[in-house]
Amino acid sequence: MIERYQAPKLEEVLEKSLHQKPLSILEIAYLLGLKERNKISQVFQTAQYVRAKYFENKVFLYGFVYFSTFCRNNCTFCSSRTSNILALRYRKSESEILKAASLLAESGVHLIDLTMGEDPFYYRSESGFDSLLTLIHKVKKETGLPLMVSPGVVPKYVLAEFARAGVDWYACYQETHNRQLFVYLRPEQNYDSRLKSKIIAKQLGILIEEGIMTGVGESLSDIACSTEVIRALGAHQARVMSFVPQVGTPMSNRKSPSRLRELMTIAVLRLLFPDRLIPASLDVDGLDLLQERLEAGANVITSLIPPRLGLSGVSQPSLGIDEGFRTVQGVAPLLEQMGMAVATNQDYFHWIRAEKSALTCSLANYEVTA
Ligand code: SF4
Repeated sequence: MIERYQAPKLEEVLEKSLHQKPLSILEIAYLLGLKERNKISQVFQTAQYVRAKYFENKVFLYGFVYFSTFCRNNCTFCSSRTSNILALRYRKSESEILKAASLLAESGVHLIDLTMGEDPFYYRSESGFDSLLTLIHKVKKETGLPLMVSPGVVPKYVLAEFARAGVDWYACYQETHNRQLFVYLRPEQNYDSRLKSKIIAKQLGILIEEGIMTGVGESLSDIACSTEVIRALGAHQARVMSFVPQVGTPMSNRKSPSRLRELMTIAVLRLLFPDRLIPASLDVDGLDLLQERLEAGANVITSLIPPRLGLSGVSQPSLGIDEGFRTVQGVAPLLEQMGMAVATNQDYFHWIRAEKSALTCSLANYEVTA
């Protein structure tokens, strides 16, 4: 006899999530796939309620310095892929990076995110990573702010050096946890090494961020499975971003997906991980839909970029940057209008300190092996 699929009841699923009871893959996929306006807004309202419980109305702001767009990898979705002859390439000097970081610090961001492709200049040898570490030390000293690094998959000993240098966050996104799709999106890269780099970073006392992308051929169950991996990793921050087609890449002709999927994923992440950080990225639509992302439950605004320094976003190289929209001043009015507020540096330090002290830091006993 064929059993008929019975959709879960929304109220019951939301009630379960409010009591922190685990949701099944089916229930998560059900939430992600909701189409009815009233049900969607019920999910968003619950996500906002949950966020307020842990973070009140406070939002954290992340400054973004994408300092090298060179990369040895060939991800099908990414403009910086090595074979893209149309990519906008640059590698900022140390003084340019320091200038951008201090401008961001002065503007009032809570964190500096140093991001690069897997640039052969830094990956060429130990001395390449040495210059990255020197840069990290200088940015920390110059800004006094928490630091996130997103340099790709680096050797273990480099992660250990990051920890010693006081790096607070390591971000390294799988983009999908469907292994077959991973092979398509990140050809010739190793799924397990990428995942393991986050586990090692966490063992070393560094907070970790995992990320997924929507509109790249994933199913709702794929996203639901990603949330399981995010839980298993114990990621401190989980981001979702919609795919944006990049010129000169194999996916350039694909359409950018409806933002509803990203918004529902933000809301589901909030319900599943009420006290974790969930970003609304300006990198997809600039200020457009920032309100919707916050209404879905995000509590971090990422990709604030200082104008007119020739710095690029990841999926939107120029959107709103030189106009100064992607700045603290650019987003503050919206927050005010929404009854939300920029958190203080104290709030952010406090959150980070509590999370870091909860990690079992094995740095002292960590044996460095390349
Ligand atoms: S996604 Fe990252 S690793 Fe892949 S090509 Fe782009 S910069 Fe390189």
